[in-house]
Amino acid sequence: MGTNPPQALRVLLLFSDTGGGHRAAAHALQQEFLAQNPHHRVYMEDVLLQHTFWPLRESDRFYFWAVTRAPWFWKVFYHTTALPLIFPSLYRSLSLVLTPRLQRLYDVYRPHLVVSLHPVLNHLPREVLRRWERQRERPRAPFATVITDLTTFHPSWVDPHVDLISVATEEARTAVLRLGASSRKVRVLGLPVRAAFRDLPADRGALRRRLGLDPRRPVILLMAGGQGMGPVEAIARAVAGASLHAQLVIVAGRNQELEARLKAMRWAIPTHILGFVEDVHLWMAASDVLLTKAGPGTIAEALICGLPMLIYSYIPGQERGNVDFVVHHKVGAFVPEPQEIARVVRSWLDDPAMLAAMRQRAQALGRPHATRDIVNALLALVDMSSGRSRESTTRVTLYSDPASPGSRMSPPSRTSRQ
Ligand code: UDP
Repeated sequence: MGTNPPQALRVLLLFSDTGGGHRAAAHALQQEFLAQNPHHRVYMEDVLLQHTFWPLRESDRFYFWAVTRAPWFWKVFYHTTALPLIFPSLYRSLSLVLTPRLQRLYDVYRPHLVVSLHPVLNHLPREVLRRWERQRERPRAPFATVITDLTTFHPSWVDPHVDLISVATEEARTAVLRLGASSRKVRVLGLPVRAAFRDLPADRGALRRRLGLDPRRPVILLMAGGQGMGPVEAIARAVAGASLHAQLVIVAGRNQELEARLKAMRWAIPTHILGFVEDVHLWMAASDVLLTKAGPGTIAEALICGLPMLIYSYIPGQERGNVDFVVHHKVGAFVPEPQEIARVVRSWLDDPAMLAAMRQRAQALGRPHATRDIVNALLALVDMSSGRSRESTTRVTLYSDPASPGSRMSPPSRTSRQ
């Protein structure tokens, strides 16, 4: 008789807070692992911001500055670092900084599974894990990548030697295969989203009342990613100024300045201004139309909610393909100019049959169970690999406390690093 399959696992999720999507996806996976088995230990580590030094430690600020203030620079940076000659040399330089830090993380957590949710954390952490396992005579832990972009992404996401690559769409799968990954390893499972998106309220009227909205007026939801970036004010003015029979909900996210500015303004139609909200699923479920930048998380969530969307901007590079995705699947349109946005929204609201058809198409593309499906695929990887280990002569210790004597880094609690 063989050893029992693992009951409780140590899972290490590698991400970085360059844009909110990586953390949100890691957090959704963490919650799902714990929902499936509260004894799993799921550690989230922001490798770039917490385990490096200047200037890498400032990657979040650099990213935010580039995408908001100098999108042209971001575009050049993105496409230059995607060149086949450039990014291997970047990895070699990064290796000097990251290798000792990753080894320490592996020493502390001794993971049964490592998952990357960041474009910079694939090739190198996978190589370091293999070396570390050989040095410590550990059984081989699977390494997986969960791509948190929807359709187009930086090539650094794809290391053909990882054990599994989870992607959100067929478009992304095609791109991953083109970058040399084997089709055996690539699964189209959707984008990790919060569990709340699995269970949306069906009664829209009651939901609107609960949110303090007028149950009879159509709802236009204006979002701008987690950071509230882009021409939100101009769009809001144009839409509110178009005298539509509708109400406007503006989510400013973490942009407090924007929130304060919008709250100080007078509006021609009923308008609700919110800061960062935790219940995006409710606001989306209550809405008729979404105006948003082409953020992958927001688009994936809107599809689940069957919410037609009008994309007004995108981050060059990784978000460009999302615009084509929305247009190609006829779940929305790309309209960058504020007055034109107001005109298109009016035409949509005046045509309920077209809006309903878009709703249906969106729902058909949505993947409310993506997070659960991804976690199941990851757990299956561990099962397969512990099976392999049982066949080998290496002894597998499936569960023991990760705090190694003499380690300077003590393992954080399961949820302390969200
Ligand atoms: N979001 C949220 N509360 C807010 C605004 C945004 O929870 O007040 C979430 C949104 O639901 C989505 C994420 O932030 O999951 C934004 O991700 P996206 O990929 O769309 O854009 P990013 O902010 O990463 O550029």
